[in-house]
Amino acid sequence: MDISYILNQLGEDHHEYFNAVAPPIVQSSNFQFDTVDQLRQAFAAEYDVFLYSRGNNPTVDILRQKLAALDGAEDALVFNSGASAIFCAVLPFVKQGDHIVSVRSPYTWAQRLFDVILPRFGVSTTYIDGTEPDHWQQATQPNTVLYYLESPNSWTYQLQPLEAVASLARSRGIITVIDNSYCTPLWQQPHRFGIDLSLQSATKYLGGHSDCVAGVLTGSKAHMSQIFYSEYMTTGAGATPFHAWLLLRGLRTLPLRLQRVADSTARLWPWLKQQPWVEQLLFPGDPDFPQAGLARQQMSNAGGLLTLVLRAQRVEQIEAFCNALQRFRMAVSWGGHESLLIPKCAGMPRQQFDAANPAHRQVRLYVGLEEPTVLQADLEQASQHLIDPT
Ligand SMILES: *Cc1c(COP(=O)(O)O)cnc(C)c1O
Repeated sequence: MDISYILNQLGEDHHEYFNAVAPPIVQSSNFQFDTVDQLRQAFAAEYDVFLYSRGNNPTVDILRQKLAALDGAEDALVFNSGASAIFCAVLPFVKQGDHIVSVRSPYTWAQRLFDVILPRFGVSTTYIDGTEPDHWQQATQPNTVLYYLESPNSWTYQLQPLEAVASLARSRGIITVIDNSYCTPLWQQPHRFGIDLSLQSATKYLGGHSDCVAGVLTGSKAHMSQIFYSEYMTTGAGATPFHAWLLLRGLRTLPLRLQRVADSTARLWPWLKQQPWVEQLLFPGDPDFPQAGLARQQMSNAGGLLTLVLRAQRVEQIEAFCNALQRFRMAVSWGGHESLLIPKCAGMPRQQFDAANPAHRQVRLYVGLEEPTVLQADLEQASQHLIDPT
């Protein structure tokens, strides 16, 4: 199935809705039945029918079909946030006494799940540098049930060798979950490497317009229906028809937007790397990136996010640089039309800033859809603030 068909036609049936080209938002909480027997059958198979919109809804269903196909998976569930996709990907598979192995520093709210919520129910987590298969093997205990991956992550872009980790997991009956938000299925398809569950924050590239918080999880029908009948239904974590519709609209242009983002990033990073005010550039598409070879094997492209380690003696210089940027806007998140930045030093009190620690001098950029020449000029003018007046 080609990607144009998936994005433009799959799951859609204009005869069902007045020949409208754009699928409607089916804003109905419930669906009616003509006979008791039909209702009885619906109760018995809620995963497969339209009964109540906390479960299935026609607008959401079109989106699910497209998202599953994009990922080469049997099925997909759509959530009201990436965080709820993480929660519902992990919780159904752990019980009292179980153990998780996770990459170090996963997304903030995944880490909160592992550090704060799961320990209350007797589930422990070991964090590892996930770059080598051996590290996963060594951290695995007899009670390990789940591996949690994020490849690449969204600040320093460490990768995990997906095929090796997935095959180790398979041999021990361990389930694998990956956060694939950086790549989307267009740049990396984790199921191809044997990963069981792949999730994304749809807030980022899939929505693409900074107007919708949502999440996606893909995997086998067996896994998706297990999740559906447990955490998905009990937490009411599903996306609303309106949010599904926004995502359907976002998906139409996903390949165009990702290509633009990749092209603009490819124009900017080599220039950034040469600037005297940039001490180090972290970007998985840079041939000098420590895992560039693995990135080429697993990912078809890279772009959007990159992290600079700025040369600065004082936190005020970094702040002045960030405050001076006009086109890069200071905000969390990424994947929308607009370029963004976020400095590490915003996450700590000023007094804690240590110029000797390169991590404190990190600034993450997201390259959006603007003209790359305009973005470059913006960085150039702001960089004046990084040069020490001596
Ligand atoms: C944003 C993000 C999430 C969480 O998604 P929300 O839609 O904000 O809940 C998870 N993982 C990564 C890598 C993210 O960037």
